[in-house]
This record gives sequence, C-alpha cells and structure tokens, in this order.
Amino acid sequence: MQIALRKITKIPLDFEVKSDEITFKGYLQYDSGKLILLKAKLSGKITTDCNICADEFKLDIDEDLELFISDGLYKSSEEYPEDIIEVLNSVVDLEEIMNSEIALIKSDYLSCEGCKTK
Ligand SMILES: [Zn+2]
Repeated sequence: MQIALRKITKIPLDFEVKSDEITFKGYLQYDSGKLILLKAKLSGKITTDCNICADEFKLDIDEDLELFISDGLYKSSEEYPEDIIEVLNSVVDLEEIMNSEIALIKSDYLSCEGCKTK
C-alpha cells in the first residue's frame, strides 16, 4: 500500500496492511514542517529462528508504533526525539515500513517457548 504524502492532512488517514499473519493498522497525520506522524499497531505472528536451538518458531507480537515520516531529507542537526523515516519520492510505502519493523523485531535476541522454560 503506497500513499502520496501530499494526500496526508491534519485529518488522520487510516490504513491497514496485512501480510501472512501480520496486521499493520493505524493512521497517518500531518504534523509540522516536512513531518508526518505515523501511529500504528503491529500485531499477529511472525516466524523467526530461536537464538538458542535454531528451530523456527512463531512469535506473537503486539507492538505500538509511533514514528515520523519526513518528506525529503531530514536535517539530523535538528533535535527530534522520535524515529524518523526519510521518504525521497514523496510516496510512503507502508509494506516497506511494516517489513522493516518486523526485521527489527527479528533482530532482537529471541528464544522459543521450549528454550525459555529450560
Ligand atoms: Zn529454542
């Protein structure tokens, strides 16, 4: 799902993206300057590898996300506390954001139920 940044206003624009067993649902809202707020929930299951036994297992996730999208390059010299995603072609790709958030979760140290209880 791709959304042109110019369509995003102060009125929250709802979106919902689904892939396999994951739902990424929330809204986009114009903030200030070149920034657009993205608030969403990432929920469902992801398949990942256990860091201990290397077996594949399913991890339940239920994460609240709040980040900003910058229309063009964002000057890092300006202080901004949240995560910022820079979009260079003025179109935000929600699947891409979802996939990078999933990749971030998978990069954590994760262990399956069997290893957790050992
Ligand atoms: Zn394991």
